[in-house]
Amino acid sequence: MTESTFAGLVSRWYEHNARDLPWRKPDVSPWAILVSEVMLQQTPVVRVLPAWHAWLDRWPTPAALAQDSPAEAIRMWGRLGYPRRAVRLRDCAVAIVERHGGAVPDRLDQLLALPGVGTYTARAVAAFAYGQRHPVVDTNVRRVVCRAVAGEPDAGPATRPADLVATEELLPVEPAAAALASAAIMELGALICTARSPRCPACPVESICAWRASGRVAPAGPTRRPQRYAGTDRQVRGLLLGVLREATGPVPHQRLDQVWDDDVQRARALAGLVTDGLVEPVGEASFRLIGDGPPAPVPS
Ligand code: SF4
Repeated sequence: MTESTFAGLVSRWYEHNARDLPWRKPDVSPWAILVSEVMLQQTPVVRVLPAWHAWLDRWPTPAALAQDSPAEAIRMWGRLGYPRRAVRLRDCAVAIVERHGGAVPDRLDQLLALPGVGTYTARAVAAFAYGQRHPVVDTNVRRVVCRAVAGEPDAGPATRPADLVATEELLPVEPAAAALASAAIMELGALICTARSPRCPACPVESICAWRASGRVAPAGPTRRPQRYAGTDRQVRGLLLGVLREATGPVPHQRLDQVWDDDVQRARALAGLVTDGLVEPVGEASFRLIGDGPPAPVPS
């Protein structure tokens, strides 16, 4: 890899500036990397760190998690948010045991076929766990590549096939160097080329960045506001799940009614939890986390 290429500059910067993230250490298992990538998708690093350690202390392998219930996965997920990820991660562990003898596969097509493993996660595991050459494109990477290569301020909300192509073109040919560059670009987006205030004078690719060269034209649209949480169905779902996580058995409807005054919104939130496979009814008037105990009797 030539030191003056985009990948060379970012990789050298990474070697001296990367955060000390446990899932980036060389002796970490593919399973631990997979768990970290799922947790990090919608949750900040600082909240993921303790949850990741606790999860792997309890379930150090896919087989260990596969033997436990989805309810326990939801409990361990705690307040990381978007708890469907916990159930999908357990589904993924079961599939790894059934299809691959308990070992996280190293082939991209097999990774992509696992429950809950999408384009980003599959490539991240292939690159970071197995040192393969794949474009690993998350929000941070898309922003860096869009600015540095295309000279545009923002990559938009969703990953497109073109983002994979544009990122792959930046990667060195040698797989291990490509995997390092992928981690480095991601870290650059998290620490330097941030969405709101890129620190261009501290950036290793400032001299070859197209957006910097163009004078950093500001985004045309309004700045995106943080999502509201208070008063939303997400908040009500969180409150309901909090009660069910703490419970040791089925929770009567009356107890759940106490978490939120608005009957319509509470009922909608509860129905959503059932539809999403996080909660199940027990009899006529109680609920519990999915799979939390023997199969629920079917109402006659
Ligand atoms: S020079 Fe500025 S805009 Fe360009 S990649 Fe670096 S931080 Fe981002």
